[in-house]
Amino acid sequence: MSLAYIGLGSNLSDPHAQIISALTQLEQLTNCSVTQVSSLYFSRPMGPQNQPDYMNAVVALETILSPIELLDQLQSIENDAGRVRKDNRWGARILDLDILLFNEMVINSERLVVPHYGLKLREFVLLPLAEIAPSLLLPDGTSVLQLANQIEKNGLKIHSKLR
Ligand code: ATP
Ligand code: CA
Ligand code: CA
Repeated sequence: MSLAYIGLGSNLSDPHAQIISALTQLEQLTNCSVTQVSSLYFSRPMGPQNQPDYMNAVVALETILSPIELLDQLQSIENDAGRVRKDNRWGARILDLDILLFNEMVINSERLVVPHYGLKLREFVLLPLAEIAPSLLLPDGTSVLQLANQIEKNGLKIHSKLR
């Protein structure tokens, strides 16, 4: 059994409803079990600023899937939500599901980089992650709580509880 942390994000088509629906779908994935759910957060967009604010959350998920099998499942949930893949990086999207961590694994393949390369730099990932896993250490030994305490908050705020 593996433990993965998944980052959820949305800024289109009723982000609040998108995150709730994605959470329900994660909870219904076969061979997976959602064990922890962060609060729902409001955050500012990265990169292009001419797009709506985001809503974000992080969940812990126990699974017997491999990392790539899990990525396939996450991408199919994104596609079902109506996400259209475009070239513009960090542009607005209906639903984004990223694998933040997978056990203590370090993966650098074409389709999958774990820990997620933006993990240490993104307040909308670190704060919800530290909320559900304050004692978690990254594979390189860095404390998630310490990173969360040090990062610029960039207007991040808690919107509501999800579970
Ligand atoms: P960012 O990666 O900066 O958060 P993004 O989430 O908008 O940007 P996407 O368009 O959703 O990027 O994903 C592009 C590709 O990233 C995916 O097709 C996937 O193969 C790859 N990828 C690499 N590492 C991961 C990961 N840890 N979780 C999810 N996708 C990943
Ligand atoms: Ca992302
Ligand atoms: Ca993504």
